Amino acid sequence: PVINLMESSLLDKTTSNSIVLTTFNDFSNWARLSSLWPLLYGTSCCFIESASLIGSRSDSDRYGLVPRSSPRQADLVITAGTVTMKMAPSLVRLYEQMPEPKYVIAMGACTITGGMFSTDSYSTVRGVDKPIPVDVYLPGCPPKPEAIIDAIVKLRKRVAQETYESKIRLKPGNRFFTSIHQ
Ligand code: SF4
Repeated sequence: PVINLMESSLLDKTTSNSIVLTTFNDFSNWARLSSLWPLLYGTSCCFIESASLIGSRSDSDRYGLVPRSSPRQADLVITAGTVTMKMAPSLVRLYEQMPEPKYVIAMGACTITGGMFSTDSYSTVRGVDKPIPVDVYLPGCPPKPEAIIDAIVKLRKRVAQETYESKIRLKPGNRFFTSIHQ
């Protein structure tokens, strides 16, 4: 007989009490944290450091990090480098094309605050967390590959603790650009 899981007594109304769901949730989290696929995205010098992760010295493959060229195949974006006003709409579009659940590591001073462009610049986004939500902030100019690995380890710990409810996010939309143009 076909069991309707949503009506089955196997599933408690409160998912935290359900052995079936919590076990599946743990397995799902383990699978996802073991295969975080980053989008190939970089705009300036920080990307040189993040690109070195692929090499044998840092060997990001051991964490299951397989860079993807398509946002539809990626669940992580490391914003490596300065984000300009002109580039920001493309970054938002890429982010929105990534399937949920998805994550963002803001890498470098320029990405986090605008860095050396944080004053007297009309063309630089002063904080990538305005157009898209950020999960891990990684300061430095540029952060070393070891620091990027540390950020990824922190993100993996967070993914390991996620629940079904926390995986569903509000979409950022284009609130940043709406506020800019008001
Ligand atoms: Fe370049 Fe430093 Fe800015 Fe990174 S934080 S993009 S290394 S200037």
